Amino acid sequence: MQVLLVWPEIPLTYWGAQYSIKLLGKKAVMPPLALITVAAMFPQEWTFKLKDLNIEKLEDSDIKSADLVLLSGMIVQHESIQDVLTRCQNFGVPTVLGGPDATSSPEKFDKANYLLLDEGEITVPEFLADFQAGKAERIYTAKGKKPDVTHTPIPRFDLLNIQAYAHMCIQFSRGCPFACEFCDITTLYGKTPRTKQPTQVTKELQAVYDTGFRGEVFLVDDNFIGNKKSVKEMLPELIRWQEKNSFPFWLYTEASLNLSDDDELLDLMCKAGFHSVFVGIESPSMESLRETQKYQNNGDLLTKVHKIQEFGIDVMAGFILGFDSDKEDIFDRQIEFITKARIPMAMVGALNAMPATQLFQRLKAEGRLKEDFTGDNLAIPNFVTTLPTITLVHGYNHVLSHIYSAENFFARLKSLIQAMKGSRNKTLGRLRLDGRLYWGQRLLPALFRLVTSDPLGGEYFRFMTWVWINHPDKWMFALTRAIAGYHFIKYTAEVMVPRLTAIEEDLQRNAKTLELVQ
Ligand code: SF4
Repeated sequence: MQVLLVWPEIPLTYWGAQYSIKLLGKKAVMPPLALITVAAMFPQEWTFKLKDLNIEKLEDSDIKSADLVLLSGMIVQHESIQDVLTRCQNFGVPTVLGGPDATSSPEKFDKANYLLLDEGEITVPEFLADFQAGKAERIYTAKGKKPDVTHTPIPRFDLLNIQAYAHMCIQFSRGCPFACEFCDITTLYGKTPRTKQPTQVTKELQAVYDTGFRGEVFLVDDNFIGNKKSVKEMLPELIRWQEKNSFPFWLYTEASLNLSDDDELLDLMCKAGFHSVFVGIESPSMESLRETQKYQNNGDLLTKVHKIQEFGIDVMAGFILGFDSDKEDIFDRQIEFITKARIPMAMVGALNAMPATQLFQRLKAEGRLKEDFTGDNLAIPNFVTTLPTITLVHGYNHVLSHIYSAENFFARLKSLIQAMKGSRNKTLGRLRLDGRLYWGQRLLPALFRLVTSDPLGGEYFRFMTWVWINHPDKWMFALTRAIAGYHFIKYTAEVMVPRLTAIEEDLQRNAKTLELVQ
């Protein structure tokens, strides 16, 4: 049986890091972990071929030579998923679709032959048993059950074109104990975090290591510290593995802000080689945080962020505009917070209601939903907001233009590097100018290209010279952050600002037409 695995295209977004990736000579940030995990659940005597549409084209011959096409995707990949389904249908090749988009809105996928909703550890074996017996049903769900991830197989990293990706990823846990109103994680993966065994994590890292990859590895958890006891049991094993292998991987993950309350955990993460953590801060407004039930962010947010940074871990953070409690000053408050918190990479989005969230249910009950969520959390809200849309769009544009001017980005990064002085995180010092490693092979040529031929070259040269003189031990760390920031600066200037300006002008024109008609 020939199985074709297809990972649909992800449009240009902040998450996609497309500008920085190109600079690094790579094609995508990360591989499709879910698909290669599901491949490991299928009979291993079958043959598998992976097509990641973010790195290569899907040819008709790929589809025609397959007995079964297996695809997965997030809401943001919806259009590409539908396109692949149509092409497979035209060639009469059966399709199996799973992933968050199908799980949230199965009714939108009438072209898929089989839908495996929820988590694959439950639905894949049931489907396979029926499929091989010739009696497969169209839809499989987990019926409210959440699988024990200690039985999840090691993903098939061998199926990847390793050279095409900037980073690799593994997963330690699923689920989150919190219940932020806008988030679908607890609906999809539950409130009780389920974690893998420590040895599973190191075996997965070993599998990545065996592919020859060295560099950044993302632990793709909903909330890495959702179960603090388990993570503290796992980290010593991870530290041993990293030490034994001379720290081949530089780690980052996603976690809730209560990480800052736990020195033991921060210390263990530093020792394991975590350089960054993505945290959902959402808003400096306590009213907005209460409205969205983000109670874990109560307290002095600035002190919490600074504490994590002082351990030597960079904080990347998510921010949201458009809460009902937001007033007209929210835009300047967000800018002020992001600046004072010295967060170089701030993912600022407009609030949108995703299908499997409490927010969606509330807004539906209030009759405020306008349209389907497109998966683009940078689009203007899909519901009637309390702030007028034009105010929101103008303010959003103002926030992005300010924080991603090259000058302001580098000012935050400088202030972060200064704050990390003398930090306990030894990982930063482990980044050496070593030509055998990723850093030497990718980052230095990228810097050379930037400095010699990019309009931002002068900014990069001045910043990297400043780091070299004042904080030479953080030079490689600063370079990785500066190159990651390139995407944010370029994407903001070339995509987001023109897009928001056009929406604002449209709204102004419509308002004028309405005035004239009245
Ligand atoms: S802490 Fe993060 S993952 Fe957990 S519910 Fe809130 S937004 Fe979702």
